[in-house]
Amino acid sequence: MRIDLHCHSTASDGTDTPAELVRNAAAAGLDVVALTDHDTTRGYAEAVAALPAGLTLVTGAELSCRLDGVSMHMLAYLFDPEEPALFAERELVRDDRVPRAQGMVAKLRELGVPITWEQVARIAGDGSVGRPHVATALVELGVVPTVNDAFTGDWLADGARAYVPKHETDPFEALRLIKGAGGVAVFAHPAASKRGRTVPESAIAELAAAGLDGIEVDHMDHEPATRARLRGLAAELGLLATGSSDYHGSRKTCVLGEYTTDPEVYGEITRRATGAFPVPGAGGAGSGAGAGAGTRADV
Ligand SMILES: [Zn+2]
Ligand SMILES: [Zn+2]
Repeated sequence: MRIDLHCHSTASDGTDTPAELVRNAAAAGLDVVALTDHDTTRGYAEAVAALPAGLTLVTGAELSCRLDGVSMHMLAYLFDPEEPALFAERELVRDDRVPRAQGMVAKLRELGVPITWEQVARIAGDGSVGRPHVATALVELGVVPTVNDAFTGDWLADGARAYVPKHETDPFEALRLIKGAGGVAVFAHPAASKRGRTVPESAIAELAAAGLDGIEVDHMDHEPATRARLRGLAAELGLLATGSSDYHGSRKTCVLGEYTTDPEVYGEITRRATGAFPVPGAGGAGSGAGAGAGTRADV
């Protein structure tokens, strides 16, 4: 059973529509795929409607958080998307995305880059605008060769020349909101140091004590030694260890299923969640823990 628990669609900053994402996931041989767009559940309905037989969809989101000035991402799985407190917080984060991206455009223009808001808005399309869209504009303009090259201290990395901070949720508050909505919380790429500063292990221990369910261990931004260290930390703290591609379509280099989550860990996530159930693809064959599950009001 192949399980990829972290993927983005055009509902945030991926390049596959939600329908394309689930079709591509099935074509990549996945049995379970999670849709975890940044701070939105907007892609759910389309993904569910297009879900191929044999593929199970885990609904989720990746919440933008900040701890002691350090940006971090919290994956939330199988929460009730209608739960008002979590919904309100996601809105607050999302409403900030446009002014923030506009702020980055203004800073880049001050640096002499001929970027425009119209260009970034065109690249974002219907998606919720974010740094990868600004980075794509820099590639279009020939300022940097690839999107990854824009995520450096020269341009858009945390604290870089054109960086603008955004409203981000305190992760302890995020845990309360996710739990309150019946969801399961996994700290995404906790040691992805290429993206900027990361939180110390002591903070992961505090989050674990506050109800964090797991950490994403196998991720493209973690070197093998980092993964080994995180796996040990997860065992020590009693946390689930997940793996996932953090797929963004053609915007980033990773492919669906590049890293995957152990079926036992996945089973434990589905057992802990009470806000929504995994959705088996039409045809009913389903797979693993998702098979036969009800689909409550999670679309
Ligand atoms: Zn992330
Ligand atoms: Zn992500």
